[in-house]
Amino acid sequence: MATSSQTGGSRRGRALRPARRLALSVRFIGGESNGSFARRLADANGIPDEEFWLMLGTCARKNGVPSDPRYSDGYLNAPALERLAVMAGRSIAELQHALPNLRPRRLLAAGDGPAWDWPWDASGSYLVRVCELCARVKGTTLDAYLASEATWQVCARHGRWLDNRREPGTGAIALAALPEVIEAHRQRLLMERRLGAGGRAAFADAYALLSCWWNLPSLRSPAWHTRRLALGPAGHDHLRVAPLLFYPEAVRLAQALAARERRRLRHTLADEHDGAWLARTADLIDTWDIPADPALHTLAIWASHHPRTSPPRKRAPATPPPPRPAPGRHRPLPAPGTPTGHDLDTTLGERSCLPWQLGELHTTSLTPATNGWTLTSRA
Ligand SMILES: [Zn+2]
Repeated sequence: MATSSQTGGSRRGRALRPARRLALSVRFIGGESNGSFARRLADANGIPDEEFWLMLGTCARKNGVPSDPRYSDGYLNAPALERLAVMAGRSIAELQHALPNLRPRRLLAAGDGPAWDWPWDASGSYLVRVCELCARVKGTTLDAYLASEATWQVCARHGRWLDNRREPGTGAIALAALPEVIEAHRQRLLMERRLGAGGRAAFADAYALLSCWWNLPSLRSPAWHTRRLALGPAGHDHLRVAPLLFYPEAVRLAQALAARERRRLRHTLADEHDGAWLARTADLIDTWDIPADPALHTLAIWASHHPRTSPPRKRAPATPPPPRPAPGRHRPLPAPGTPTGHDLDTTLGERSCLPWQLGELHTTSLTPATNGWTLTSRA
């Protein structure tokens, strides 16, 4: 059992004692934030939060203190991560697998010895409250938090929509009345597992497109209104539930974007293929009762970020087309505007080539123009 005597030498300017394994470990909650994990580990071992962080190292900022995992997250440098691994009784690889904010790109730059910080302006993730039912399964009664790529997450196991609203009555939203949202989530996970970074980029782009459409009331699908009513009182906060309402369409559109993208990256996206793809996508949008013409204008903006490329020069006239890569063996080639690596360390917004964010209501308009449509942002 660790005691406060372990922290005795950890004050600034004094050498830390070697880290020791704490008496009790805690189970991982996949995707958890560092601060949330540290708080659960400290709590299990009866160690006050501040003392726990001083056992990891010193704050990289003068007079810095650990903050509340509800509002921000704590970041470690590599030596502090080594100490956490010892204290938690886990390998560094296990910790980095379970806790996104411990991944190499999110570690603090090496300083003088083990150090940590709780910056207010950290990018790359949002805090989302863990599903209470999942947390209970993991044996914790404390509120736990995820370091998430979006301001929301889906718990498919318990059918709940998660975010980080703190007002009374804003717990997880039950999705029992909207099984299509859970099914869409399964489809998205399948696509992202199959296509890796390419699939994740396709969803990020589709999410930006749906956000743009949602921002423009004339482009909203009637299905979103129906779903909102099905949520009951939880549906009253329009902006909060917006991503939930259009999630099925976002995933379906992501699949369509990914199909074009795979063809484009294989250099087999000829004019006629692109035309047929656009027609199919227009039909799809039509089934959602969204006005296809203005929606297709925003899709054309997406396509302009993913232009057709020339095929590699053939070695001989009879050279057959390159064989299709075996599933799962190849990552897609980099595309303009497509994250090529480390994309897991980004938010959905950072991952997309499109600028549209949900909630830019009254700041964006789409108007007919002589040669199509014009999308403008009003400052
Ligand atoms: Zn759950």
